[in-house]
Amino acid sequence: MAPRKLAAGNWKMNGDLAAMDQIDAMLNSAEDASCDVLICPPALLIHPMVARIGAGDLLVGGQDCHAEAKGAHTGDISAEQLRDAGASHIILGHSERRADHAETDAQIRAKAAAAHRAGLVAIICLGETEAQRDGGQTLDVIAAQLDGSLPEGATAANTVIAYEPVWAIGTGRTPSTDQIAEVHALLRARLSDRLATGADVTLLYGGSVKASNAAEIFALPHVDGALVGGASLKAADFLPIIEALD
Ligand code: PEP
Repeated sequence: MAPRKLAAGNWKMNGDLAAMDQIDAMLNSAEDASCDVLICPPALLIHPMVARIGAGDLLVGGQDCHAEAKGAHTGDISAEQLRDAGASHIILGHSERRADHAETDAQIRAKAAAAHRAGLVAIICLGETEAQRDGGQTLDVIAAQLDGSLPEGATAANTVIAYEPVWAIGTGRTPSTDQIAEVHALLRARLSDRLATGADVTLLYGGSVKASNAAEIFALPHVDGALVGGASLKAADFLPIIEALD
């Protein structure tokens, strides 16, 4: 089995019911694509999005979950509730959550285990800051984040890893292709050491992916798709990225 290719969109705290209009064109593209296509809108939009498109070719996911299934956690959402709303995936450990909510690797590992418990695919995000990159610490940082946030029971079927350099997210800057390839080679080697299915885990690159750079990034070894922020909000921007992967 080869890793499944995945074009994933992270809408962050953007979008509303009117933004559903973008979904119709994305659904058409997803139906034609051989790669998986996923949109992770704000949690409030998951159910209306699934209701609009039906279960099928365009996947819908969450952007975070609580580690517990239910309980006294005001404002939080469990993986089971996301599943109930129609989600198939959850983004976990995005650098914005690590920064805004001080999420640790241990918390991300617990959330990924919760995603698996609920039958969802955990997309675990890893990435170095600019200071860490400049300090020559990138590979150590990525290895430590991977080791700390990958739960027991992770497999190629229930886990996706996204390499997202913090300094490349939403900035228009991207690492060189050599830098992306170096990190993805590390991820593949480490996952292959740790998991029986490590060779088949989908590895995404994320950070200022757009139509003009997608094909070059997707041509790199061990890059099986992208996690896309800004360029996933409008079908006109996202469709060329899906086509570049397909
Ligand atoms: C992201 O939010 O995960 C991301 C990669 O954002 P952008 O594509 O806008 O850099």
